[in-house]
Amino acid sequence: MTFRTRSFLTALVTAAVALGVALPLVSWNIRRSVIQRIERDLIQQTRLTAQALGRLPAPGPGGLDAEADTLGALVSARVTLVARDGSVLGDSERSPEELAALENHRTRPEILRAGADGLGTARRYSTTLQTDMLYAALPLRIPSAPELAYVRLALPVTEERQYLASIRLSAVAGAGAGLATALLLAWAGSMLLSQRVDAIARVARRYAAGDLSRPARDYGTDEIGTVARALDASIHDIGRRAAELATDRARMEAILGGMSEGVLVVNHQGELQLVNTAARRLLRLTEGPEGRHYMEIVRHPDIAAQVATALRGLTGESLELQLQHDLVIVTRSAPVAAGSRTGAVVVLHDITDLRRADRVRRDFVANVSHELRTPLTAVRGYVEALLDGETSSADSRRFLEIISRHTLRMERLVRDLLRLARLDAGQERREHVPCLVEALFEGVEEELESSLDARRQEVRRDIAEEAGTMYGDPARLHDAFRNLLENAINYSPPGSTIGMAARRAGSRVLLSVTDEGPGIPEADLPRVFERFYRVDKARSRGEQDPGGTGLGLAIVKHLIELHGGRVTAANGPRGGAVFTVDLPAP
Ligand code: ADP
Repeated sequence: MTFRTRSFLTALVTAAVALGVALPLVSWNIRRSVIQRIERDLIQQTRLTAQALGRLPAPGPGGLDAEADTLGALVSARVTLVARDGSVLGDSERSPEELAALENHRTRPEILRAGADGLGTARRYSTTLQTDMLYAALPLRIPSAPELAYVRLALPVTEERQYLASIRLSAVAGAGAGLATALLLAWAGSMLLSQRVDAIARVARRYAAGDLSRPARDYGTDEIGTVARALDASIHDIGRRAAELATDRARMEAILGGMSEGVLVVNHQGELQLVNTAARRLLRLTEGPEGRHYMEIVRHPDIAAQVATALRGLTGESLELQLQHDLVIVTRSAPVAAGSRTGAVVVLHDITDLRRADRVRRDFVANVSHELRTPLTAVRGYVEALLDGETSSADSRRFLEIISRHTLRMERLVRDLLRLARLDAGQERREHVPCLVEALFEGVEEELESSLDARRQEVRRDIAEEAGTMYGDPARLHDAFRNLLENAINYSPPGSTIGMAARRAGSRVLLSVTDEGPGIPEADLPRVFERFYRVDKARSRGEQDPGGTGLGLAIVKHLIELHGGRVTAANGPRGGAVFTVDLPAP
């Protein structure tokens, strides 16, 4: 039931009950006063009739009955004249013949009371007239008619009934009109009230939908207005606090999202409350794990055990874990008190790079020692052979040549290592001047001309017009491309052609060195820029040809990155390696 209907019905029922109570009360009151008035009038008339009879000189020719008729006509009531013994001497509504048949009236209550008190009234059903009658009787003492003892007047109450009925009718009509007006007023009142309640409900719905702007109209000053204003104020207060919480949460999420450490927050029931981006990445979580139990999400038993420990309120030991996907992490967990309950927070620290750098450093030291020991062993061997003095002069010469090659290689190795150390330490400053690609390629080719000639190889240059110039350090770019061309010469067959090209791709200049050699196996492609990494370890080793240092491409990578560029290795569509240097265009 709507508020409007309810308030309307309440008003309606109240009005109906008020009318229902008032109507019988009013009609009872009216009835009483009407009867009292009729009674008063009847007594008055009786007194007048008695007076008139008292002045009667002597009964006329029709006797007392004729007198009764005359008086009855005058007072418009039934007039009965009763003798001391109760017999009826005259009656305005009976003919003289009927009088004898009338009952004796001595025992009538009004006659008895008149005899005793001087005035008698009564009300009863008249069998004669078949209606309720009101009677009033007075004793008489008339010298002209000594047998006459009482005069009695009677009025049928039909008149009273009619009067009452007409009053009741107008009372009901009035009540009906009142009720209708009350209904109308109640309806209008409930409409106004429900409109206000509806307006408040609309504002509440808007607030619930998140729009907290104030309503245009005031709530009013009555009780509804006061309640609405109080609720409004508390909603705005809650809204302000919610906004502050949202800001705090957004700030916290931004901080957690920006952290490189993974963070998991678990509530006292073990449900994940927060999993930041880094944690999702480290634990390889795809869809939103928030709200789910950590056991479903955290597959690693050691991390799960740490969460369990923290949930028991204990701070666990930090653990170093190797995850399936080559990730090394350190995890640490701690309990978080939230009221009387204990949640847990787990921090995952990705130390993969640290461990890789460690390994690279260890490998590097091992590689350097190894790379130096090999030629040193060879040199010592040949020097000892020479010291024996038993070698022929041809052998001696050959040994000395080998010693020379190995020393050269060691020299190269040391030189390359020093250069890498300088590059690592950021000690190599680069110039930034316009360089002509043509001049760069030509300079590199000229430097390696003897090697090219020795292997009957040819360089084909292909430089697009828009890629003719770029900015950089000419000496360092020369070193980088000399390294790439040297590799192309060494790793491609004699008599083959080497391509050096330049083209423009948007804001970048792409410079490439292509050869017709065996190319690089796909698996080795990402690793060729690592220090000491060689695809075919056997190919570049041996007593006669100690081969390259395995540091060339690492230096190239460093030099290009110094220019804000990138170098990549790939295989050409018809085989052969393709090294592409990607530099920002001027
Ligand atoms: P190295 O001194 O051994 O040449 P680099 O760092 O220059 O060392 O090269 C690393 C490895 O990459 C080489 O040992 C070789 O296996 C491979 N490589 C480099 N350039 C080429 C090429 N043009 N064709 C095939 N393999 C190559």
